[in-house]
Amino acid sequence: MTSFSQGLHHITAICGDPAENRRFFVDVLGLRLVKKTVNFDDPGTYHLYYGDELGSPGSALTFFAFAGAPPGQPGLGAAIEIAFAVPADALDFWQARLADNGVETRREHRFDEQALCFEGPHGNRLALIGCDWAARMPAWPGAPVAGEYAIRGFHGATLALAELEPSAAVLEQVLGFTRVAQQGNRVRLRAQTGEGLGAVVDLYVDPTLASAREGVGSIHHVAFRARDSDHQLALRECLASQGLHATPQIDRQYFQSVYFREPGGVLFEIATDGPGFTVDESAAQLGTSLKLPPQYEPRRALIEKALTEF
Ligand code: ZN
Repeated sequence: MTSFSQGLHHITAICGDPAENRRFFVDVLGLRLVKKTVNFDDPGTYHLYYGDELGSPGSALTFFAFAGAPPGQPGLGAAIEIAFAVPADALDFWQARLADNGVETRREHRFDEQALCFEGPHGNRLALIGCDWAARMPAWPGAPVAGEYAIRGFHGATLALAELEPSAAVLEQVLGFTRVAQQGNRVRLRAQTGEGLGAVVDLYVDPTLASAREGVGSIHHVAFRARDSDHQLALRECLASQGLHATPQIDRQYFQSVYFREPGGVLFEIATDGPGFTVDESAAQLGTSLKLPPQYEPRRALIEKALTEF
């Protein structure tokens, strides 16, 4: 029998200006820029990775920078919110810090936790969730935010769906999540790992919502963890047995990827934990220079010329 996914691996969203993106996610939210590379399918644009000190699975938020693209619209068939875990008593700090940076916030009581909801600079919907377990996890020592408040990684993601059951079935039967609670339209599923980074997927079910439109501010896909290549292939086989078509394994330099669309229309990925972001630069150097995969190195001069340095 296949063992299940350990939860979220990374989440990829779409942003506009990469400099503005880095300013917000590093200077305000205190994440580390762990990789500056290009979109492997569109090497004239940046792909930026943020996370904890090493961009560990469960902490990696990535952005395709499509400056000048039209704004997206959150809605059915897409992830509509990215939630980060912070210590339970850190929300007052964050509310003040975000206000100082001109960001409006809204408090929500979700299940047994408090959420601070806001929009990122490109319209991405974000939330900080105060969690008891977050304080027990180390924070990145170099972070511009003190460890007692710092983001540890993902709490989870929210997907907007017209129907609950088909999407829940894939999360349960292939990825090993369990339905744990419901609050209004929001149904919470939890990874087999239970508590900790990236263990939550909320399904927000409302068939009256409009369909999502992809663009700046939207979330492109949600990736789940596989331990290694064999585990990934086993999960892929499990998808096939459910009648879901997945891509072959694709080398993404920092992990291997398999993509599929879940029945509600959200693009999912299964990504391997390794080799990780230290495969092409040291832990100390992460994110400090433009890294290209081997197939693009011969075109480096041309690619660098097409990108705006920031
Ligand atoms: Zn991905």
